[in-house]
Amino acid sequence: MECTLCPRKCRAIRTAEGGNGFCHLPEGMLIARIAPHLWEEPPISGANGTGAIFFSGCTLRCAYCQNADISHRNAGRPLTVPELADAMRRLVDAGMHTISFITATPYVPQILQALALYRPPVPLVWNSSGYESVETLRMLEGVIDVYLPDLKHRSEAMGRLCAKAPDYFERASEGIREMVRQTGVPRYTEDGIMTRGTLIRHLILPGLTSESIALLDWIAENAPGIPVSLMRQYIPCNNVSIKGLDRPITEREYRRVRDHMLLLDLPGFLQEEASASADFVPLFCQDESFV
Ligand code: SF4
Repeated sequence: MECTLCPRKCRAIRTAEGGNGFCHLPEGMLIARIAPHLWEEPPISGANGTGAIFFSGCTLRCAYCQNADISHRNAGRPLTVPELADAMRRLVDAGMHTISFITATPYVPQILQALALYRPPVPLVWNSSGYESVETLRMLEGVIDVYLPDLKHRSEAMGRLCAKAPDYFERASEGIREMVRQTGVPRYTEDGIMTRGTLIRHLILPGLTSESIALLDWIAENAPGIPVSLMRQYIPCNNVSIKGLDRPITEREYRRVRDHMLLLDLPGFLQEEASASADFVPLFCQDESFV
């Protein structure tokens, strides 16, 4: 296939053997973990968990990624379309409230084929870096129930420095507008599980609270009523060498961004301090990583 699935639009040739695009992914699916996951936001995980499918590879590849083995180095196991359909069935049988496709953009055609074989009777969640093209998101319209995009960087300089993506904000903001157009205002079950909607995540980075505040302002203006998950879990990972990103955020930095979110009266979630730990990185590519 000649790939234009993400905003990089490399037109890379992806074959069974490999790919020459930015993500270096082959045509077939590589997956690093398929298992219950309890640590997403309450409307996604609920009490029983979300059935989390961690796809290998990433179209953004942030320098500080805490899952770099799978996002930068593409660690994972090959899975066929029927195998993915069977895995989703097992997750549903295990009582998952939702099914989450995590950094799955390079595999949209295969996921649609798997969903044609088996459509889980629970909400389907698209967990994304936010770096999406509107054309690819339109392929998911009417299929994905809940979008869970990150909104990471406001300036071209930070998009370029952290992810070689100076157009990050431009693409992510268009993408989030499209997600909100498709799913509308959030809807929930009586137990608080989101059945339709968009939930935007923002990870505060050290020394960059002004970017965080600008992004929260954008959300307030452009996505009113859409919940925000404010994340304080940043720890330097992947031997990140970018100046300033070599430490966790301080309490003062967190409070500055949190207070701005409260001032804007944005609905959503504030992450616990204990979440800034490598203990929350799941186990990938082991036998026990797969249901
Ligand atoms: S998914 Fe990969 S190969 Fe396809 S356009 Fe994006 S980076 Fe390039």
